[in-house]
Amino acid sequence: MFGTVIWFLVGVLMLMIIWRTGIGMLRSMTSPLPAPPPAGEMRRINVRYRCGVCGVELRMVMAPDEDPPPPRHCLEDMDLVAPVE
Ligand SMILES: [Zn+2]
Repeated sequence: MFGTVIWFLVGVLMLMIIWRTGIGMLRSMTSPLPAPPPAGEMRRINVRYRCGVCGVELRMVMAPDEDPPPPRHCLEDMDLVAPVE
């Protein structure tokens, strides 16, 4: 019985440690976002992307460069559909 209580306490302690490190990692991932470049340095593009998982489509009209990395949806990179004329 005593041993069970000890293991329960150890488990709770480990959960708390994992929880705290998880929150800390989330904070470090979300806070330092670089500022977007000024509007003059943005490129006007017109490309469509489709999510291969759920099929949603979106159009990208501005990017820091001509060939930006594809956005992600459903945790996957979206597929480039076709440039829109
Ligand atoms: Zn999706």
